[in-house]
Amino acid sequence: MEIRILGCHGSLMPGRHTTSFLLNGRFLVDAGTVASVLSIEEQKKLEWALITHAHLDHVKDILFLADNLCTGERDPFIVMAPQGIIDLLHANLFNNVIWPDFSVIPTMENPVIRFRALEPGTRYAFSGLSVMPVPVNHTVETMAYLIEENDCSVLISGDTGPTDEMWEAARNAKNLRAVFIETSFPDEMEKTAALAGHLTPAMVKRELRKLGPLTPEIYLYHLKPQFCEPLRRQIASMDTGKSLHILRDGDVFRF
Ligand SMILES: [Zn+2]
Ligand SMILES: [Zn+2]
Repeated sequence: MEIRILGCHGSLMPGRHTTSFLLNGRFLVDAGTVASVLSIEEQKKLEWALITHAHLDHVKDILFLADNLCTGERDPFIVMAPQGIIDLLHANLFNNVIWPDFSVIPTMENPVIRFRALEPGTRYAFSGLSVMPVPVNHTVETMAYLIEENDCSVLISGDTGPTDEMWEAARNAKNLRAVFIETSFPDEMEKTAALAGHLTPAMVKRELRKLGPLTPEIYLYHLKPQFCEPLRRQIASMDTGKSLHILRDGDVFRF
């Protein structure tokens, strides 16, 4: 499985993009940054996206991707998430006010995007990948995704505060190679993080204990750009017994 990090930050600043992971050049987990970094030829190859939640930093580029794919020459781009998240996207973004409803454009029969509802905790087979949404704890309905291909798995947390269900899925995953876990706020903002359904480095350290003896590579992401400096300092001094990395926009991994 190839994962290219199109963006991995918790907000926008020059040179810092919001969250979107490109899998095997054809699939997305989140769509905070797509149209602004992929060429039109790369955008045309995209087949589907798994969406963690409806917050703008994770979905805004679906709007522009839909516009760019509106050529009438291809199959619909499939946007997948539990029904509650799809309903939020449909009602608040693709509502013919904020943006056209590309799920009925240019025709109902062959629209630019098609929504597909997923059941949390259910495993799906899509394009050779096995995919399972797992509920996590954020201020709105949010999923982590456990993704497996060729007998190895990776876990992408979405935005979340402390959670147990996701780690249970991680412990049961087949050959877990990587965990991408959000780390939004520095330690001195733990109260804010708790209110906003996010994690600090100290909270991540406590969360990682739930992995038990497993030692996948740990990639910390969704750093708020305005706090990158203290976050980097705090992460550098963390002793978790795991292999920690701070994710960067543009990173490419093969698992
Ligand atoms: Zn976010
Ligand atoms: Zn969020």
